[in-house]
Amino acid sequence: MAAKIAGNLEGCNVSIIVQQLQGAYERGQLKNALYQYWAQQVPKIFFTSAEVAISTQRTPDAVQSEEKLSRDVLFEPLEWFLCGGNPAAVFQQLQSLNNPPQLCGKVFKVGEPTYSCRDCCADPTCVFCIECFNKSTHKTHRYRMSTSGGGGYCDCGDVEAWKQDPWCDIHKQGLGQQSQNPIEKLPPDIAARAWEVLKIALQYAVDMLLWEQMGGLPQDLEPSVPQNTYVTMLFNDEIHTYEQVINALTKAINCESKEAVEFATVVDREGRSSVRYGNRKSCDEARTVIQKSTSSVRSKPLKVEVMHTSVCAHQAFAQKVLNWLGQVVNHSDGLRHILCTTALQQPPTGDPCVVERLMLADTALWKTARVQCHQIMMGSLLMDQESKKQFSVLYTRNYPQVQKDFMADDHDHGVSIISLSVQIFTVPTLARYLIMEHDLLAIVIRTFLDQCASCRHGRYLLDREKLQKNFRRLQFPLLDLKYVLSMVPDQWNDQLKRKFLNGFKIMVELLTSMQGMDSVTRQVGQHIEMEPEWESAFNLQIKLAPAVAMMAGWCATDKMVLIDAFRIVVKALLEIRGTADTVKMCKRRVCDQEAIVVDYTVSREPVSIHLPICRLLAGLYLQLGKHGLTFNSPELYGPLQPPSAMDLLEQPLRTLVMIAQVHAEMWKRNGYSLFHQVYYYHNVRCRAEMQDKDIIMLQVACAQMDPNQFLIALLNKFELMNWIEDVTEKGGSATDDLLRFTNSLVEEFLTFLIIITGERYVPGIGQVSSEDMVRREVIHQLCISPMAHSELSKALPENHKHETGMEAVIADVSTFKKPGVTGMGRYELKPEFYKDYNPFFYHYTRADQSKSEEAQLKRKKQEGESTACPPPELPALSKEFSSLVNVLECDVFVHTIRMVLRRVNSSRSRSWTEAMVHRALHLVGMALNEEKRLYQTSPYIRFNFVKKATEGGSNSLYSALHDLLGKPRIQNHADLLTWVIDRFDEVKDLKDQKQGASDAQKAKKVSSKSKTDAERKKKAEAARKRREKILAQMSDMQKSFIRDNLELFEATGTELSSSPSMEVEGSPMVVPSQYPVAVGPDRSPATHVTLTTSTCILCQEDQEVAAGNKCVVLAAYVQRSTALSKSRGKVLEDPDKYDPLLVSPDLYHGVHTSTCGHVMHADCWQRFYEAIVAREQRRALRFRHILSYEVDRGEFLCPLCETLSNTVIPILPPSSTIQPDSVSADISLSFSDWLDGLKKTVEASQRAMMKEEEDKMESSDDMPVLSPCPLPSITKNMAEMAAQGFQQLFEYMTETGAQAPYSDSVKEMMKLFSRATYTFGLGLDPNDDDDRVPITAWGTCAYTIRTLEWLLRDQGKPLFGSLSSRQADCITALVRVVTVSGSLSDPQTISKSALRLLSALLPQEPMKNIPCILDLDMFFTLVFLHVTISSLYCDENTAAGGTIRGVALNDKHLMHLVTAAHLVQILLAANFTSADTPMDTEETAEGSAWVKLFMAVRKEAGVQTPVVPSGWQLQTYVRESVLPFLRCSALFFHCHTGVQSPAQLQESGVSEFEPLCQYLALPADLSSLLLQNSGADVGHVVPHTIHSKWCHYPGIKESLASGPASLVKYPVEVNRLVPLPHDYSDVINRGSVFTCPRSDGDDSRAPTMCLVCGQMLCSQSYCCQTDLEGEPVGACTAHIYTCGAGVGIFLRVRECQILLLTGKTKGCFYPSPYLDDYGEHDQGLRRGNPLYLCQERYRKLQKLWLSHSIPEEVVHFMEANASFATIEWQHL
Ligand SMILES: [Zn+2]
Ligand SMILES: [Zn+2]
Ligand SMILES: [Zn+2]
Ligand SMILES: [Zn+2]
Ligand SMILES: [Zn+2]
Ligand SMILES: [Zn+2]
Ligand SMILES: [Zn+2]
Repeated sequence: MAAKIAGNLEGCNVSIIVQQLQGAYERGQLKNALYQYWAQQVPKIFFTSAEVAISTQRTPDAVQSEEKLSRDVLFEPLEWFLCGGNPAAVFQQLQSLNNPPQLCGKVFKVGEPTYSCRDCCADPTCVFCIECFNKSTHKTHRYRMSTSGGGGYCDCGDVEAWKQDPWCDIHKQGLGQQSQNPIEKLPPDIAARAWEVLKIALQYAVDMLLWEQMGGLPQDLEPSVPQNTYVTMLFNDEIHTYEQVINALTKAINCESKEAVEFATVVDREGRSSVRYGNRKSCDEARTVIQKSTSSVRSKPLKVEVMHTSVCAHQAFAQKVLNWLGQVVNHSDGLRHILCTTALQQPPTGDPCVVERLMLADTALWKTARVQCHQIMMGSLLMDQESKKQFSVLYTRNYPQVQKDFMADDHDHGVSIISLSVQIFTVPTLARYLIMEHDLLAIVIRTFLDQCASCRHGRYLLDREKLQKNFRRLQFPLLDLKYVLSMVPDQWNDQLKRKFLNGFKIMVELLTSMQGMDSVTRQVGQHIEMEPEWESAFNLQIKLAPAVAMMAGWCATDKMVLIDAFRIVVKALLEIRGTADTVKMCKRRVCDQEAIVVDYTVSREPVSIHLPICRLLAGLYLQLGKHGLTFNSPELYGPLQPPSAMDLLEQPLRTLVMIAQVHAEMWKRNGYSLFHQVYYYHNVRCRAEMQDKDIIMLQVACAQMDPNQFLIALLNKFELMNWIEDVTEKGGSATDDLLRFTNSLVEEFLTFLIIITGERYVPGIGQVSSEDMVRREVIHQLCISPMAHSELSKALPENHKHETGMEAVIADVSTFKKPGVTGMGRYELKPEFYKDYNPFFYHYTRADQSKSEEAQLKRKKQEGESTACPPPELPALSKEFSSLVNVLECDVFVHTIRMVLRRVNSSRSRSWTEAMVHRALHLVGMALNEEKRLYQTSPYIRFNFVKKATEGGSNSLYSALHDLLGKPRIQNHADLLTWVIDRFDEVKDLKDQKQGASDAQKAKKVSSKSKTDAERKKKAEAARKRREKILAQMSDMQKSFIRDNLELFEATGTELSSSPSMEVEGSPMVVPSQYPVAVGPDRSPATHVTLTTSTCILCQEDQEVAAGNKCVVLAAYVQRSTALSKSRGKVLEDPDKYDPLLVSPDLYHGVHTSTCGHVMHADCWQRFYEAIVAREQRRALRFRHILSYEVDRGEFLCPLCETLSNTVIPILPPSSTIQPDSVSADISLSFSDWLDGLKKTVEASQRAMMKEEEDKMESSDDMPVLSPCPLPSITKNMAEMAAQGFQQLFEYMTETGAQAPYSDSVKEMMKLFSRATYTFGLGLDPNDDDDRVPITAWGTCAYTIRTLEWLLRDQGKPLFGSLSSRQADCITALVRVVTVSGSLSDPQTISKSALRLLSALLPQEPMKNIPCILDLDMFFTLVFLHVTISSLYCDENTAAGGTIRGVALNDKHLMHLVTAAHLVQILLAANFTSADTPMDTEETAEGSAWVKLFMAVRKEAGVQTPVVPSGWQLQTYVRESVLPFLRCSALFFHCHTGVQSPAQLQESGVSEFEPLCQYLALPADLSSLLLQNSGADVGHVVPHTIHSKWCHYPGIKESLASGPASLVKYPVEVNRLVPLPHDYSDVINRGSVFTCPRSDGDDSRAPTMCLVCGQMLCSQSYCCQTDLEGEPVGACTAHIYTCGAGVGIFLRVRECQILLLTGKTKGCFYPSPYLDDYGEHDQGLRRGNPLYLCQERYRKLQKLWLSHSIPEEVVHFMEANASFATIEWQHL
């Protein structure tokens, strides 16, 4: 064996070691041998020098070599020895012995997606990993998705986790495999060695991690040559902030703050970090300084230790050993079982086993060591069924201690051993086993109780201070309790019963200690001085409530358990009540009825809102019926005396009355604390275990009492005895306050009666199912308004599985309305359910109540219905509660109602309110409904409301109702009154029928009924008429208001008067019948002139736009842009060297301009802007104010619409008013002569330049400059005719006087705008002398037009007529500025620019600074030449500011030349990979011309053409490719000339090509621009000599040879945001596999995807900060400067939200385009519904990005949302 090992090993070292180990093993000395070996080697590998010991000094090399050494020297020999051969092969072999896994067990990383099936999970902690989920049937169920917080594993295959289909397709394969002891499958020799090796390794690792003597090692690890180096080790805590740690470190070890940040990051991530390496003294010093500078009165100092480096080394190795063990057991079930057995084996010394030691030492370890320990536990113990059980027993046994340690610790729950609870307690069989055998329930509850309460005389007292301060840490046993109880047992045995009741008893002790907590006494006179603390009791209530409810649920499943539990609670209740001596009783009388009641005045004595014992009992009462028990079943009480109904009633009634009094504003002086408590008492999160249970308890009591006595008890407690006895009314001396209180209390009392008798939708009380209950909740929510899914689920209570049960009913009761591009989908109640609406629904808040009433009233009015909302029909009560309804017919009830009605009728009475009437009528309606129902369902009834209500003749309740008819004071309830009387008569008839009244009597009744009917109808009619009259009056008033304020309604439009700007306007000329042409001397007249007059938004004056007038401007925003870039990531490296004139067609950098379209006078704007600047300067002196815009960067918000702006565009008059079209008509110069002249100009200038260059050879640094030669020197070489034409073409028209003088203010604004494009567009300081200033202004015009063309194309809109008015105004203003800027700038500069452009377009000699035509964007070139060519021959003598005559003809020739060049560009860049299948189409002449040209230019340029396309294919390609250029040119000339656009281009879906050519004066067959022989000579052919120059120009060959990838592809496609996956879980998954690129392999906390380029970034984290302009910025901010020119759009993967950033300081969050099935987005993935990409919303984002609106949007958001201003966006 040994020989074989040696043979296979590379280095002999390892083989020697293995041999030694083998020898030692055989001698039984393996442990000694290994320890000796480690003692020597470990200190040599780890912590050997500062370079490996100090985290900030570690280099990748150091890390790597350490890693390699530990692998080669330490682990390699161990593995070879363990395997007895090549580990790789052996492990693989062992793996094949494993049973196919039945459990997935994949441990989740932070951020990994997890899935839970809402239909099938046993509890919400059961999850699938994405692989398993996708291969399971649950995909088609209702599922929830979330991201793991790290820890926890996939439950696939756990039969207890899922009610059905626990296996995915992968893990199904493991089914049916006989489970044999996995150790038996191992080869015996390996097994034997594994027992030893794993044991020694585990023992070593645990010993070392728990080693406490920092100065030295255990004896058997002491190295032979001791070293004397130490480190100062800094430990993490959760008390000190990053800043404090950084501060301390800079002092203690004298490091830069950047290094300190790195230390702090490591400490935070790993739990500790060595910060100094050296001798003992220096390390001690560092420790002292750190401790001193971090200790304060309030907090302990940071934990710092000085450690011997050898200890550190062994601990580092120990951590690696743990990892290694994890890997090893992953290979083999057998090895795992061995490790588990070792770990759980108690040593013979009786000490705890390894696992127990780790459990108890958990809080002593640092973060990474803890996490590693937990991971190995999960990977071994929890994956092995038998070990899991043993582990859980150990865990349960040590539970109290572990929780106690956690309480004293300061680390997060996630890195504590107690986070493993969820893995154990959620397994139902395990939980049940632990309850039965190890008393788990009692242990958990007792642990909690011991942590937060002290025991005195057998009663627990809660420790308020602990609850208040530490609840976050205290609460975990309560969560565990929820896990333990989550599965109700289906079978009980004696032991389970005993242990459960044991736990139940302790729970009751806990609840008893809460009963009566935080009691309050009404404050009279003075307001309370200090708000009492109330949150802790509610925190406790919220966490405890689910467990209590679940315990009650357990009790319900077994009769004996229920009875025993019932007794325990009753006993507790009786103890709380105290003895009869302490309860004072008294006698009360109301209308001949007498009752003995408890004498306790709520408004004077203490009352508490916390009554958990009463509520638990209420819950148990509801369960009795299930087991055939009644309230009085003797077996319920046994030896106990049954509590009286009064006992049950008293406590909850006090609470409810107090709350009624709070509503009546009687407790105002008790402050907010009480107010909050009452709020939560009703709130959806608490009410099930508070309010609802109190109502149930009252119903329980009521059902057992005489109704009259019950009502007297209530009236007494409500303190309404005086009211019912009419004392206040008679005495008439009541103060206003008292009257108000009493009235409110009467309202509350009546509401209370409605609730007690009407709330029956609780299974047990009414004959309803729990589904009915949810349905009713949903109906009432939707009666408030239609709701989104999330709103609705927020309003409904959740069970412990976070389910509301709403899905089961929602489709029955509502219809779903889908969302549009914004907003959410909503559910609307189906009309047939409105009849179930009850305005006094007990879960309504007051706001809900009034909103719902309003909504229902509005709806009923719209539908012309009666506005009454009568009490809905109710379900029957269950047997035990059937006597509840008797309240509605008892004497005291009838008396009370009659009393209310009588006071309403009495005109002098002050003690009535509308609300009272409403409730009284509602109650009468309820009584009638009840009587009606009983008549219909039961043969014999004792319900006599009608009889009692009609007794007493004119004094009866019935006649009191009639007296109300037509009374104006009950106007609002007239319809309800009508309904009540109708119902009354109906029930009366039923009653008469039932009693078999004689026919004669009937006839009499009918007549009397019809009489009352007639009377009532008369009154009702009168009421209706009055209502109508009032309505008519109101409507009149409204109309006259609008009439009077008509101006106000109309004068809201302050935008440009020409707002719908692409419509015909301005000149009254008739639309030309001829086809419109926008270019050349024959162009159509301008009929479409916009921006002619406007209103200044600042001074409101109208202003006509004319050259000499006051200048008006548009607020505008100039920004750098890469949106159109075809070379994503290419950055403008050095703006100083950037040439904005010769623009590359990949448009990697551009300057975009936008405007909000609001017009101001230039001087008005200047005053406005100066005021802002002054204000900000003043402000800056006082305090730093955060603005959404940066004044020092010239930014301001449009004064009208607050759109972000940083400059203004002057509005110039249209060109048609400056240059009459007629002037150039008579010039004649052919295209070829024109071309010839220009070519000569280029030649001559080049010659002149080269000569000059030769002259000054020495100063070669200066770039040679092309200077134009004078016009005569060109024309002298031309034929006479041509010379004359050429001369005329470039002649200035100064003498004609047609040129308009621009005012100074116009010139100044033009300069200002150009300067803005230069400074913001290139990121340079203002420099008016730079020649590039005007050029960037022209460039922004071309770039903006290109952007708009893309936008229109992207949305499939027609070229003309679909731009918004602000977009149209923007390019119109830009084009006007640009077209005259040539004549307003320095003519020399302009003419030089023209010459450079021409040298590129008509190349002669190759020049350094002139690129080949492939590298030129032709639309930019066209615009630039249009601007500059007029000044080509101008010199200082020519008056600046003039225009030449030949503008129109120049345009036409230019258009031809540039288009031709573009076509050659397109042909050269073509990349056909296959010829299309020949179609039946005949080859056209144009087609064959294209093929000819294609071959010719490519041959000329020397490119390979492997595939020759057909003529048709080529023609299609050319036409498509040239289209964007033509569209841009058409927009440009349209804005320039104002020529009406052709009708075809205003529709979408038509072929644009020919209309465009015509509009631009181009031939429809574009090949004729390049080839003579196609058809007749049309006089515009670019001769072959020029093609040839184009194709031979340097650079062409190189560009083409480098392949199609580097060339711009034609047609240039619109850039889009990266495609996103349909299912959001794919995005999450992408985020979870992404690791921080800077810290090797660590998870990124905030993975964020750039939607422009798709790159994933590690955002919001110190690790990925970089410096930008000397400031640290986060990964996103850094990225936008390379990817988006300072603007970015991101998807934050974990949060599922969009992040918009602009610059370093501005940003906002935006809803993501992912929606759930309910049409809602889910920021922060809080709800977890499956999310899918909504294409419309993503397109909206795409539009936002492409239209360059992100900065604007961000600022709008920041203005609207103050919290955005406080976020440090640059750190994202
Ligand atoms: Zn899985
Ligand atoms: Zn699976
Ligand atoms: Zn399922
Ligand atoms: Zn003005
Ligand atoms: Zn505006
Ligand atoms: Zn990072
Ligand atoms: Zn990007």
